[in-house]
Amino acid sequence: MAWIKSKRAWYADGLAFECTGCGGCCSGPGEGRVWAKPEEIAAMAEHLGMEVEAFKEAYTRRFGSRVSLTEAPNRDCIFLEPRNEQGQRRCRIYPVRPTQCRTWPFWPSNLRTATSWAMTQTHCPGINRGSLHPLEEIEDEKSHTWG
Ligand code: SF4
Ligand code: SF4
Repeated sequence: MAWIKSKRAWYADGLAFECTGCGGCCSGPGEGRVWAKPEEIAAMAEHLGMEVEAFKEAYTRRFGSRVSLTEAPNRDCIFLEPRNEQGQRRCRIYPVRPTQCRTWPFWPSNLRTATSWAMTQTHCPGINRGSLHPLEEIEDEKSHTWG
């Protein structure tokens, strides 16, 4: 009998995720990149009431043909706010944050295998916590790429 490879994703029953607001994925100490497309830069600039060129000058850096948000000296994203009374760190531009931020943690690299997903939990306490996200939502987020 021929072996038929199942096309069913390992996360077909959904995955639990609920952000705790710890800010870990937006902060140092390691250097990071937050890729931003031109339309995302325009939206962020508008949100802050800035001209696009002024926004680029203040908050972005170029890597070849790609543009990333810049970082504070401690490697935190420039838009990550200090810890509040609830112990959370908020994004100053949350409603217009780039796709890379918006689609976390449903990135192809995290979804590759159940082990990849479990590894993600080691640096994101929101993994396997809270409500279940259905397969359709996960696949939709996964389909968005950045850069
Ligand atoms: S590391 Fe996870 S729980 Fe913490 S802010 Fe980022 S997404 Fe939320
Ligand atoms: S733009 Fe906001 S969500 Fe994205 S890394 Fe910076 S602080 Fe985090």
